[in-house]
Amino acid sequence: MPIVFPHLRTRFVFPMLAMLVALPVAAEQAMPEATSTEPFADCIERLQQRGREEGLSEEVVTEVLGKVSYSEKVIELDGRQPEFAETFTNYLAKRVTESRIETGRELLDKHRPLLLRLQRQYGVQPQYLISFWGLETNYGGYTGFFPVLDSLATLACDPRRSTYFTSELMAALNIVDDGVPAESMLGSWAGAMGQTQFMPSVYRRFARDGDGDGKVDLWGSAPDALTSAAAFLQHIGWEAGWRWGREVSLPQDFAYIDAGRSNRRPLKEWRKRGVRMTGGKLVPALDVPTAVIVPAGHKGPAFAVYPNFDVILRWNLSDFYAIAVGHLADRINGAGPLQQAPPSDAPRLSKQQVEQMQTTLNTRGFDAGEPDGVLGRGTRAAIRRYQQAEGLVPDGFPDSRVMAGLGIELP
Ligand code: CA
Repeated sequence: MPIVFPHLRTRFVFPMLAMLVALPVAAEQAMPEATSTEPFADCIERLQQRGREEGLSEEVVTEVLGKVSYSEKVIELDGRQPEFAETFTNYLAKRVTESRIETGRELLDKHRPLLLRLQRQYGVQPQYLISFWGLETNYGGYTGFFPVLDSLATLACDPRRSTYFTSELMAALNIVDDGVPAESMLGSWAGAMGQTQFMPSVYRRFARDGDGDGKVDLWGSAPDALTSAAAFLQHIGWEAGWRWGREVSLPQDFAYIDAGRSNRRPLKEWRKRGVRMTGGKLVPALDVPTAVIVPAGHKGPAFAVYPNFDVILRWNLSDFYAIAVGHLADRINGAGPLQQAPPSDAPRLSKQQVEQMQTTLNTRGFDAGEPDGVLGRGTRAAIRRYQQAEGLVPDGFPDSRVMAGLGIELP
């Protein structure tokens, strides 16, 4: 997956999560898929039939689904490819800002009784709930202005991910049937809603009334949003009492070939290899499955990540996002900045440069897969093999030496 691209792109992996938690859709196989030539009105008629079969009220089928509009803008945003891969340094600097940390600390204080209750009930520590809230919508400051039903209907009628968006549309219509006014359902262009940006299938299962007013309002009520996030995190496997991970320092002779989130080993094994906490002590001799990741290469910060890191990835499958959630949570909880500042000179690669790099790696026998301009896992693995063959530090990070070695000019 394109883990180095910004949030909106990585959000595409959310469908995987939604499939895990979505209710089974009995009619899935029987329904014809959207085709690229089908007029929108015909598609809506087909979706209306589907809605009736799934038991939506006739009022919602005709008055709500019958009146959705096609959105050119949504298709345009959906097709947009970022021109440059985001660097870790830039990603983190934009998301974990001093003002976001400050506001997070204030909100942690303000909502403390609720947050402690949620921790008892769902096992998620207060700072993480505040952190997700801050990263998703800047604490409810920005929840999106796209009419969710228009977005979902447009994407459901587009052949590329029709199945997924059709089931999200049905979930959204069910929410309307349950009493949420259709016109109040505003969100991201891809249909994520409210202060924690839940897709409708997630909203249906995990939206909770946290302030006890008898209504669920993920747009207007912070306690409702925080409670829903806690319920969802518990469901996707949050391990009570555990951290997400931590910044570590690696020994000089660290085998970078073993870095990466797919290589889990007991923390005590990393301890034997000399992995230390930032204070200087060796990491504890525990059995917890741990990976060591270096998102900005061996010159940047290193992190030991625990099972809750994977839980954050189930919310949004991006290493950068998961580190940002964890680090912001730590900062909100009183920790200082990263000890090893992310390097400022990391090259910012264009899609074209990544494609060129992939082609060159392929030509030289380091299989990077079909060149697509996306710096994903396969490409990083190919870079590692190249680095190893060249006697460079095999961290999978395309620094200026790698680019020069592959004959790719940097600006
Ligand atoms: Ca409420």
